[in-house]
Amino acid sequence: MQTSIATVSISGPLDQKLQAIAAAGFDGVEIFENDLIAFAGSPREVGQMIRDHGLTCTLFQPFRDFEGMPGDMRASALDRAERKFDIMQELGTDLVLICSNISPQALGDRQRIIDDFSELGERAAARSLRVGYEALAWGRHVFDHRDAWEIVRAVNHPAVGLILDSFHSLSRNVPIDSIATIDPEKLFIVQLADAPKLDMDYLYWSRHFRNMPGQGDLPIAEYVRALLDIGYSGPLSLEIFNDRFRASPANIIALDGYRSLKMVDDEARRLSGRTVSMPARARVRHVEFIEFALSDTEAPLFETMLSSAGFRAIGKHVSKAVTHWKQGNVNLVLNQANDGFARSHNIVHGASVCAIGISAENIPAILERASALHITRYEQAVNPGEMRIPSVRGVGGSLIYFIEAGTEEDVWAQEFVPLPDAPAPGNDVNRIDHVAQVMGYEEFLSWLLYYFALFDVVKTPQLEIADPLGIVHSQAVESPDKNFRITLNGSSAAQTLSSRFIHHYMGAGVQHIALSCDDIFATNKSMTERGLEILEIPANYYDDLAARFGLSQELIDQMAAGNILYDRSDDYEYFQFYTRAFAKRFFFEFVERRGYDGYGAGNATIRLAAQSRFRDDMPI
Ligand code: MG
Ligand code: MG
Repeated sequence: MQTSIATVSISGPLDQKLQAIAAAGFDGVEIFENDLIAFAGSPREVGQMIRDHGLTCTLFQPFRDFEGMPGDMRASALDRAERKFDIMQELGTDLVLICSNISPQALGDRQRIIDDFSELGERAAARSLRVGYEALAWGRHVFDHRDAWEIVRAVNHPAVGLILDSFHSLSRNVPIDSIATIDPEKLFIVQLADAPKLDMDYLYWSRHFRNMPGQGDLPIAEYVRALLDIGYSGPLSLEIFNDRFRASPANIIALDGYRSLKMVDDEARRLSGRTVSMPARARVRHVEFIEFALSDTEAPLFETMLSSAGFRAIGKHVSKAVTHWKQGNVNLVLNQANDGFARSHNIVHGASVCAIGISAENIPAILERASALHITRYEQAVNPGEMRIPSVRGVGGSLIYFIEAGTEEDVWAQEFVPLPDAPAPGNDVNRIDHVAQVMGYEEFLSWLLYYFALFDVVKTPQLEIADPLGIVHSQAVESPDKNFRITLNGSSAAQTLSSRFIHHYMGAGVQHIALSCDDIFATNKSMTERGLEILEIPANYYDDLAARFGLSQELIDQMAAGNILYDRSDDYEYFQFYTRAFAKRFFFEFVERRGYDGYGAGNATIRLAAQSRFRDDMPI
């Protein structure tokens, strides 16, 4: 696969865009005309810069309102094209994108359009150039790639071909199997963009909400599979118009773009049974442990919190100031070492989750896939005899450790010495249900792609949750068996709890950890008795709950007494309660699922309001 990206997809001046595109690993670049016009350098110089970066210029775009123009406008459209041909020759590209005409003056007469392209093809061929015709979803007369292909076929000129753009095809639900009728020799380039399913005007949707393959809801892998099936072997080129990307660092967005292309190519190859270039998405079993970075003053306070939640310290690390706390199948690692990664994390973020340990199948394959996706490995020095647990960089500079499924107990046995006088842990919680991470809104899609590209997970639909001070976007990634669940939350409003978390935490990170229990009321009771501080929920919530769900007064009273929240979907029920935040940074959630699959999104607003009552004296 040849990878390419349009300069319009990322932020910054043209020279910096080219640098970021090359650094991310792309083979080629589409020059978007506005980027060239705004740049203080000639097309020839830009062409040289492209080649100096080791890139090829795959396309110059766009050329608008060409075909079907009436009267004198036809001649002037052809003149304009000649001037663009001059620029292309200076840039060093042979291909220009002609997008379907949107002018109210454009004629829909098919023969005229064919004649115009025949003439343009002659002129392009005279200069060894090619023109590609793209059907814009909002084109005046041509807005469907099947139509554009019929025109190209009728023109039947070697210098005139088709350009496909997945957004234009898939936003209009043009059937993917229609690609099977296209001659790959006549398909000059394919542009890829994903997008969330939104009910809006095509133009506005396209200009503001396109995103990278894997970040949206369109079937891009199936689209690419259809291209592979006809034998298309030209560039796959990202053309992403997105307001968030234009406000983000170019290098991050370029890297996301590269990662998304690699992922979608891999997915398409798997769908069509072709040879693949990297191992499959990682099969995750569960979160085996969560590691906290704590200072010596923070640690005793956190230990008190954990003890009141029923956890007990059961092991001490063989060489470092690291303790293993456990309850049920939940393992927490408290790292107070005064050197190493956790220490650095604590200096930057304060008390925080510095790593998540994931049990997964075939770790060497996962690391190979991570490397193919340009996900950074992390290596830390270990003492002789200690295990080297492989890890990659994750959200907010934290780590994800990988433990081979089935060997979890070996890790604990080898790394930790049991504490002889450890009292038995409580039995209030049994496993980690989900881990909630908070990030800036501009980073949200980046991390969504990270998880989706690396792990065998599905994305839940994106939700908007009302915080008293703004909107928070929330979306989960889940393994097929739901034993691994991460929720991502991003807000651009400065005062939402999510944003305050990021400011206070000095960046993105884990905001809460949800632990599952079999009996929420028993868990709530024993934790309260041990003195765990539980987030208070207002009485009005329970009045509303009674009205909405028709629950018995007895159940309502029981929930109110424990500050337990409730949700129901079909006949499936969800019970949840929260702790107060530790050191104003992160908190625990306890959940009981009775067949219920979501996260109590309807209650998030109540929780956020309850937490924001503390905002004057507490950052979260
Ligand atoms: Mg396009
Ligand atoms: Mg939650």
